[in-house]
Amino acid sequence: MTTTSKLYINGEWIATDSTFEVTDPATGQVVGHAADANASHADAAIEAAHRAFPAWAATPAHKRSQMLYKWYNLIMEQRNEIAALLTSEMGKPLMEAKGEVINAAGFVQWYAEEAKRVHGETIPHLEPTKRITVLKQPVGVVSAITPWNFPAGMITRKVAPALAAGCTVVLKPAEQTPLTAVRLVELAEQAGIPAGVINLITTSNPAEIGTMLTTDKRVRKVTFTGSTEVGKLIAKNAAETVKRVSLELGGHAPFIVFDDADIKKAVFGLINSKYRNAGQTCICTNRVYVHKNIAEDFVKAASEEIAKQFKLGHGLEKETTMGPLIDQQALDKATLHVEDAVAKGATVVCGGKRHGEQGFFFEPTLLSGVTEEMRIATEETFGPVAPVFTFETEEDVLERANNSDYGLAAYVYTNDLGRSIRMSEGLQYGIVGLNDPMPANAVQAPFGGMKQSGLGREGGHYGMEPFLEIKYISTGF
Ligand code: NAD
Repeated sequence: MTTTSKLYINGEWIATDSTFEVTDPATGQVVGHAADANASHADAAIEAAHRAFPAWAATPAHKRSQMLYKWYNLIMEQRNEIAALLTSEMGKPLMEAKGEVINAAGFVQWYAEEAKRVHGETIPHLEPTKRITVLKQPVGVVSAITPWNFPAGMITRKVAPALAAGCTVVLKPAEQTPLTAVRLVELAEQAGIPAGVINLITTSNPAEIGTMLTTDKRVRKVTFTGSTEVGKLIAKNAAETVKRVSLELGGHAPFIVFDDADIKKAVFGLINSKYRNAGQTCICTNRVYVHKNIAEDFVKAASEEIAKQFKLGHGLEKETTMGPLIDQQALDKATLHVEDAVAKGATVVCGGKRHGEQGFFFEPTLLSGVTEEMRIATEETFGPVAPVFTFETEEDVLERANNSDYGLAAYVYTNDLGRSIRMSEGLQYGIVGLNDPMPANAVQAPFGGMKQSGLGREGGHYGMEPFLEIKYISTGF
């Protein structure tokens, strides 16, 4: 028997007349039902957050910190159970889900600490009988809209700093993965976070509810992670009432391997940066540029490693190292990118097609002989397909890597000091992995993108700033 989740508004768990199914992408089976919020629920959630704001903002920071610590401890205590739930609705292998939940808890811990460090400033005035005092105050009600690919991590990365800063929150998780969100909010309630401070709206109608959450005057800030397309819509919605906006959007990460690099390390890097989460992370490698002198060796080594490393299967099975894609649309996009590349002259080195009949599995794929005319050269695949391009000079590869509307993450493998500095500084990306395929699993780093990959940064002390307003008081005496 599956459970039916509820909404959480003003400290009450509320059942709805209609619900929607949550399915396991590995099997297509229903794993639960989620409450389907309508406009009046969204309105009630915004109102609850609006009413709870003054008291929460006035709560001493160390008290907010203590509650966040409790939330952190509860998530850690229940991490195995949360990870299994996450895998069942999202598909990633259990080991990856456990890692995500620990990372998600890490954000709560980090911002429990950071809550106590919101400092102001005094600035000497030009006139001797005046003083300037700078305060930082919470912005107000925050709408947090999150994607399905990190059902736990994307929530705490937003909600924890918002609560730490003294903001109240209306959270709307992705419709594919509402159950992990429900579990996290249950634990926030258990941690003693007061009624109205965090409100949860699950819905199968993100356009209507999302529009409310991003246009309502009572909401002062929107923090969003998801596609660039929806991010642009949200920025437009928020403009009408000049809300603060943070956007973590799509990426199209280049992965550049110079001929002075350690090929073994670079292959290991590609495996991690491309195929983790079945290629469904915003910082996943999307374009592999290998120096022509080593391209043949690199492709051979990478395909051997792919054959060794990956066992597709249900995320809860022990041997599984790659789960399914999230849905049919994701499968269609991966298929389209491979077919388009092959039609235009690329070679499938390994993989290249759907795996099995059940669920949305796609084989880990490596393409060689890829050129800029292919769709995969400019569009985000969000699946386990690595297209390999070749290059000859540093200048050429830097220009090609930067020739993208996206600017989230980029990777460089080189052992040349000067080149590593030139490349890191020249890449127009918010995150550079220099001989490092996993730059983003650090809660203390400022995660975020340039160009159409987003606005603002999340993580570390930088992640508090979007939730704080700056006010100065000029005092005469
Ligand atoms: P999506 O944009 O379809 O959905 C993200 C969220 O927006 C979901 O909660 C969805 O319900 C909601 N939404 C959909 N339509 C909306 C509307 N009209 N108004 C308001 N909200 C709406 O994205 P997705 O397919 O769930 O996620 C994949 C995308 O997210 C990829 O492009 C990926 O690169 C990006 N992503 C970025 C980061 C990052 O930090 N930069 C992290 C993870 C994923």
